[in-house]
Order: sequence, then C-alpha cells, then structure tokens
Amino acid sequence: MKSPLRPPVSRRGFLSAAAAPALCRAAVSEKPAILGGTPVRATRFPGWPVHDEAEDSAMLEVVRSGRWGRLNGSAVSRFESMYASLMGAGHCLATSSGTTALFTALSALGVGPGDEVVLPAYTFVACANVILQHYALPVFADTDPETFQIDPASLESAITDRTAALMPVHLGGATFEVERVQAIANKRGLPIVEDSCQSHLAEWRGKRTGSFGKAGCFSFQASKNLNSGEGGAVLTNDAEMAERCYAFHNNSRGRRQAGADFSYQQSGFNARMTEFQAAILLSQMKRLEQQYETREKNAAYLSSMLRELGGLTPARTYAGCTRNAYHLYMMRYDAEQFAGLPRARFLKALAAEGVPASGGYSPLNKEPFLRNTFATRGYQMIYGKKRLADWFERNQLPANDRLCSEAVWLTQNQLLGSRRDMEQIVEAVRKIKQHASELARA
Ligand SMILES: *Cc1c(COP(=O)(O)O)cnc(C)c1O
Repeated sequence: MKSPLRPPVSRRGFLSAAAAPALCRAAVSEKPAILGGTPVRATRFPGWPVHDEAEDSAMLEVVRSGRWGRLNGSAVSRFESMYASLMGAGHCLATSSGTTALFTALSALGVGPGDEVVLPAYTFVACANVILQHYALPVFADTDPETFQIDPASLESAITDRTAALMPVHLGGATFEVERVQAIANKRGLPIVEDSCQSHLAEWRGKRTGSFGKAGCFSFQASKNLNSGEGGAVLTNDAEMAERCYAFHNNSRGRRQAGADFSYQQSGFNARMTEFQAAILLSQMKRLEQQYETREKNAAYLSSMLRELGGLTPARTYAGCTRNAYHLYMMRYDAEQFAGLPRARFLKALAAEGVPASGGYSPLNKEPFLRNTFATRGYQMIYGKKRLADWFERNQLPANDRLCSEAVWLTQNQLLGSRRDMEQIVEAVRKIKQHASELARA
C-alpha cells in the first residue's frame, strides 16, 4: 500500500528533484509505473547501430565497384590488416560470423570426434554449438560469480587426457583471468581458442584480447560493440595457423592459391566475409574508441551509484583487466534487499520505469539441445552410452546455476547516453527498492 503520510509529488517537482542525484530520494514516493505510477524515464536509450553519411558512402562505393566479394574486392583485406593492428595481433582472418570464426579456429586445430573442449557454462550457445558441429564433446567449467568469468580452478579440473582445446570467453567485455588460464594451458600443453566475441578493445595488462592463445575469435553481429549486421574474425600470431584458417574458410583454397589451381590439401567450408560487411566495419571502427570512452565513463558512474544503493552488485573485474569494453553491464540481484521480490518481477517493474534489462543466460549445461544432440546416431556411436551418461555427472555447476538466477544485464547501447541516463537507471532501481514489499505482494 502507498504510504498516506508522503505528500504527492507533481511530475514537475519529481523531474526537478530527480535532476540532482542527492535529491532523488524525494521522488521515490511516487507509485511504481507497473502499479500505475509515472515511469522514471519517458525517453528511449540511445539506438544502435550508430551511423551517418560515412557508412552510406562506404556502402555505395562497394555497390558501384561491382566487386562484392573478397575474392575480387579489397575491402576485406584492408579490414583484416587494420583490425590486426588495432588489436595488436600478427594475423587477422575476416569471417562471415563469430560462430564461423570459432568453427574455423577449432577446425584448424583439428578438433574432431572423440575430443573434448572445455568452455564456460556462462556464455552464448554458439560456443557449445561449434564444438558439437565438430562432433566433439563440450565440457563446461563453472563460473566465478563475482566476475561472471570462467573459474580457472574449475577449468583445470575439467581437463582430461581427451581434452583437445580450451575455449575461455571474455564475457561481457571484461576479461577472464588470462594468466591463470594461460598457465593451465601451458602446463597441459593445450591450445587456447579465446572467445573475444564480446570484448573488442578490452585489455589484460594493457594488451588487447584476441591474441593470448593460439587463436582469438571476434563477432561483428548486430548487437556487438563493433558490428556489420553479421561478421567475425580470427586473430592469431601463428602464420601457419593463419594459413590453415584461411584455407578452411575458403573451401580448401589457400590465400595465395591462383584461380586455376584446383589442388586441395585439407577439408574446408565457405565462411568468407563480403565486401559490404568489411566496408561497414572500416567505417564503424573509427567510432569504436570514442564509444568505448563513453561507455567506460558512464559505467564507472553507474557502478559508484549502485554500490551506494545496494541490492544490485556490479560484476567485479580481475586486477589484470585494465580495460573493460562493456559489451554488457552485468550485475547480481539480491532479492533479500528487495523484500524478497523475485528477479522476474523486478525486471518487469524496471522495464515499466523505462529501463529495459534482462536476466541474461540460462545454464547452458542444462539446456535440452545437449541431451538431444547426444541422442543422435553419430554421438551414440562415437562416445557410447556410458560416457554420455557420465557427462551429466561431470557437468554439474552449482555456482553458475545460482548466478543464472541472480544476473541482471544492461546492454552496451544503454551506456552510450548521458550521465542523466545513468542517474535515471539508479532512480528506477531505488524506486522499486522503496516499494519492494508492495510489489512483492501485488
Ligand atoms: C555473439 C557471440 C558469439 C557468436 O557470434 P555470431 O557473430 O553471432 O555468430 C560467440 N560467442 C560469444 C560469447 C558471443 O557473444
């Protein structure tokens, strides 16, 4: 029930009080929007993607050139050399998506039936899918709930003599604990395929992600901080690996193979990027650093306010993570501090205030796609009933289960706005917190 003791706040009074963060407590007596009150925000967060005439003319140039594919154009190669130097890697191969980048890297490493690949349970399904597409077995490591990143101790204990590669993910734009993961990989002689699909410009001790392992894979899918609708890249410092990746992504044909040379050394695929994608990326890349700076400033401000408020804890980063690229702004929701209000109801109330947020990933290890894939003829034949049954015993991940029930995400474009936007996010959370018991009952 609404407190009868608080005077009603007019819309104007509310807005002027809300303009100063120190005063916004005066505004919280207003009814939550989900119960019929006025939303904290009436405006939308900045849209995504950001583009102007630069992208228009880049696109038109490709159209008019008539060279639309990388085999006769030059935009893809130009993008590759610029991206390699931006990321500080020796070689870059552009691909059609982040998924095909990961698929290409695993293929170049010879991952196949019978092999195991260790990956985090807290990630996008593509990571598991590329392993399954090679008829290998994904083995999940648990999550460090404070950072949302792969737990290195759990990663180490997931390794067996059948492990062929490690696929840690720099989640949300922050980094996993690079040195610990590298030490484990070196000790066991295992290659790292670094999933950097969310971490363009992120850094570990001043060095950009994507070349800490044998290969680093990026995504330029529409939601990512650098995007061309779809697209991806594999980075590597290993010239031979770069060559194998190129040939794989180009239906077995090498980078320097002449048109009339129809000899093939390895199996391949078509995962080529188009000239249109590369032209957009060359344009979008010019905005990346500045967008990073805006996100980083807004995230720091938001984190300081949220820490003071309590109840939503921003993800911690490791000391070695010198740059968080903030693809996601990740937090943990503590229902106890909101009078037991369930997270789903909190998210609905937050959206009603004009702050859309999500609960993030489901526990990947429990999704039915695994059981269904393991039931196929190929998996049954390769691994047998016992090993597949044991898989479910091995892949119990209590920390990740819990994190999946507590996570709250904002997206990178929400950090591209003003300080005022950040203050309104906090006002919305504070308002819900203030009315939490009422909301839990309603
Ligand atoms: C986006 C993403 C992918 C897949 O990239 P696509 O370009 O969508 O194929 C893989 N891994 C992670 C962690 C991602 O966020």
